[in-house]
Amino acid sequence: MNAIGVDVGGTKVAAGVISPQGKLLSEVKYPTENVRELLLSTIAEAIAEVRRGYEVGGVCLAVPGFILARENKVLSAANLEAIEGIPLKEELGGRTGLPVTVENDANAAAWGEFRFGAGKDVEDLVLVTLGTGVGGGVISHGVLLRGARGTGGELGHITVQPAGPRCGCGNRGCLEALASGTAIARRAKKVASERPDSGLGRLAAKRAPLGEDVLDLARRGDEASVKVLQETGTWLGIGLATFVNIFDPEVIAIGGGVSEAGDLVLEPARRELRLRSHSPSRDLVEVREATLGARSGMLGAAALARGEDEEYVLGVSATR
Ligand SMILES: [Zn+2]
Repeated sequence: MNAIGVDVGGTKVAAGVISPQGKLLSEVKYPTENVRELLLSTIAEAIAEVRRGYEVGGVCLAVPGFILARENKVLSAANLEAIEGIPLKEELGGRTGLPVTVENDANAAAWGEFRFGAGKDVEDLVLVTLGTGVGGGVISHGVLLRGARGTGGELGHITVQPAGPRCGCGNRGCLEALASGTAIARRAKKVASERPDSGLGRLAAKRAPLGEDVLDLARRGDEASVKVLQETGTWLGIGLATFVNIFDPEVIAIGGGVSEAGDLVLEPARRELRLRSHSPSRDLVEVREATLGARSGMLGAAALARGEDEEYVLGVSATR
């Protein structure tokens, strides 16, 4: 039986019908309406449209926020306040006639990579997504770590530099504040002012460099831009070392826009990880790029959808 994953983002709602093998059979996208009733009807409509012609056993929504897993509610979502507090199982279950659950988007992405992507060959996976923010998810012995309420796995908000830059969450020096695309842009501004004759410096004289500018310049050999990415990778590695010590994963998958920098960020991260984590975990862990791209949340959500019997609709492999 197929399942539906719905990626409910700050700008768009993307719903897909996914087969038990992880194949995307059908997909629809709508702009997000950050108003309670409109948002609910948009999600219900996306589900109704995407399922047309397919047999479907359940739906799971991936939402960027703190999730109360047992209640199937979103406690808080910084960019999508309209979804907060809605009993989604009841509200959407009634409109669609399907069992509906909800999961944090980064946890769903981790589950997607675990079932169908960079972690499909292992039992212990950590996913870290480096985008505007830093998200994460942990699978230990084939089980998604949710914590007591469902808000576990917020890997982006571990403190790596106590007096560091302010994070979106209000704390200082979170991994997110040092290794996100936003952090790269901030670091680029600083390095550009120190090296005005570099490619980065010349760009910054015209406009504020973005994360993708830094990546583009670094690929063309601009040393100042390479330095920005290396520093980013070093901070990432400090965070990853902690994850290795706590979770002893077989694979750490790195996703999100920043992961497009590949080894420019990942090599310094691997170096720092080995300096700061323990053997044998540090010698065995593999830091890989995630493979599912922007659809990891939708695919993972579908694989987390539960049927009327509470079992995963897409099943889990025999070893899990
Ligand atoms: Zn934070």
